[in-house]
Amino acid sequence: MSKTFNAASLARKNVKEMTPYMSARRLGGNGDVWLNANEYPIAPEYQFNEHNLNRYPECQPKDVILNYAAYAGVAPEQVLVCRGADESIELLIRAFCEPGKDAVMFCPPTYGMYSVSAEAFGVEQKKIAALSDWSLNIESIRENLSNTKLIYICSPNNPTGNIIDNKDLVEVLEMAAGLALVVIDEAYIEFCPQYSVASWLVNYPHLVILRTLSKAFALAGLRCGFALASAEIIEVLLKVIAPYPLSTPVAMIAAKALDMDGIATMKHRVATITESRIALFEALNELSVVEKVYPSETNYILVRFTDGNKVFKALWDQGIILRDQSKQPGLTNCLRITIGTEIENVRVIEAIEALC
Ligand SMILES: *Cc1c(COP(=O)(O)O)cnc(C)c1O
Repeated sequence: MSKTFNAASLARKNVKEMTPYMSARRLGGNGDVWLNANEYPIAPEYQFNEHNLNRYPECQPKDVILNYAAYAGVAPEQVLVCRGADESIELLIRAFCEPGKDAVMFCPPTYGMYSVSAEAFGVEQKKIAALSDWSLNIESIRENLSNTKLIYICSPNNPTGNIIDNKDLVEVLEMAAGLALVVIDEAYIEFCPQYSVASWLVNYPHLVILRTLSKAFALAGLRCGFALASAEIIEVLLKVIAPYPLSTPVAMIAAKALDMDGIATMKHRVATITESRIALFEALNELSVVEKVYPSETNYILVRFTDGNKVFKALWDQGIILRDQSKQPGLTNCLRITIGTEIENVRVIEAIEALC
């Protein structure tokens, strides 16, 4: 070869400029208490006994679709199953946004993948900062609608833990009608099912709801998520999805996790985690290095410390891995703590107490 090969110089311009999403796993750490990725702390047991791995799987495995539709209270034609909610964030961009022309909108501080996916496809990002109480800035959203195709709203929001007000969601849905899709990310909705807007799909053909098995269903390693929307939107997404997005073992386990037993188990987990969250919330509130504990409807708590970096490092050195949120707008000195087992939660409190 005469010329030196430089892969980076051949990459698309927007890809060259990208930094990959720093997932909890990529950030590493040497811990035995993992409270940085909002996972369930105990592994569920599943048997896998499929013998037909010589055959390709179904694109949209029927059992998974039917079980999820029944669970979510929607028609099977309104369900898309994919490789985690993260894949549906990307499929929406691939299907609905022209690079260099259309934009996606989201409201920081919020989940990081809306930005990463938009960047990967060269699609403009409109970041409309949330107000100080973390409600939506409705007026600014209205002013920035012009070339917006997708509006991602995370509720309950990651990392702040708050629900977005129904009244605000209705306003956004009304103003976006005919212009853009409104995508409500309900990754944590099992922890507060009363706030789901799945029943609104009947009234809003431009509403999309994202769901996952990674959080309350305790299956982050499975990589399985869902988009719920009008049959018309699902049809468009099926044009751009990979022909076999779910492997056969994934589909089998997902169907099992969504049968009656699976859902009962999930509800039991949610009850336990919610109890622990309330206890952890109260314990954190007593500590002098804690400035504010934000109320949460999820399996994590956002905490503002007097010195977030000091707490993060001290716990990291003891093998307790939290998620640093201090780089997000408005979240100086904030750490996000996933609710772990009772023992793990005690270790967190004791480690922070030692810093007081
Ligand atoms: C965890 C999470 C996701 C990703 O879910 P996967 O199904 O694991 O891809 C999406 N949105 C939010 C807000 C999350 O916290």
